Amino acid sequence: MNTEVRDRIDIRRGDITRLTVDAIVNAANTSLLGGGGVDGAIHRAAGPQLLEECRSIGGCPTGEARITGGYNLPARFVIHTVGPVYHRTTPAKAEGLLMSCYENSLALASQNGAEEVAFPAISCGIYGYPIEKACRVAIDTTIRFLETETVVKKVIFVLFSEGDSKVYADYLVHLENFSD
Ligand code: ADP
Repeated sequence: MNTEVRDRIDIRRGDITRLTVDAIVNAANTSLLGGGGVDGAIHRAAGPQLLEECRSIGGCPTGEARITGGYNLPARFVIHTVGPVYHRTTPAKAEGLLMSCYENSLALASQNGAEEVAFPAISCGIYGYPIEKACRVAIDTTIRFLETETVVKKVIFVLFSEGDSKVYADYLVHLENFSD
């Protein structure tokens, strides 16, 4: 990882719904009609118009992403992506699907001119993806994307717990120690 790409990645602890960025990513389910965890928090903070727009989209397959407005959120856009349920498939397939979530979300951000994008730990709550494994997919995929990307300037990983943010921070340090 070169230092230019490293400087475009941030790790923060907190509530993703409070972030003033161009786009926040939602760990949605295939119905796009809201749920628990970060999905519920985003819908509560955005207001009922978000649900209305999501309803008009008509769902989203696992690994794909869809974009909506942010309504009452400080963020201009919400990118909804559906992570894999970890124990419903093989680890290799889950990894491929999680990678697609990050790739498709970042591509949508770029297509919509979003310069700052914030991600929660997709699939790491109710969907049961181990945080250490998910963190590697999230960061590796983001680095690969940023290496050739110019629209998206900054990617922020927003972690709810101290433990999860340490996992992310430790992995970035690990990559720095083994970079060119
Ligand atoms: P999934 O169904 O994809 O597992 P969850 O919403 O259950 O999604 O959890 C994804 C991650 O988001 C978990 O690590 C959880 O702790 C975290 N999370 C929950 N609420 C918020 C929030 N408001 N901001 C940031 N992260 C959150």
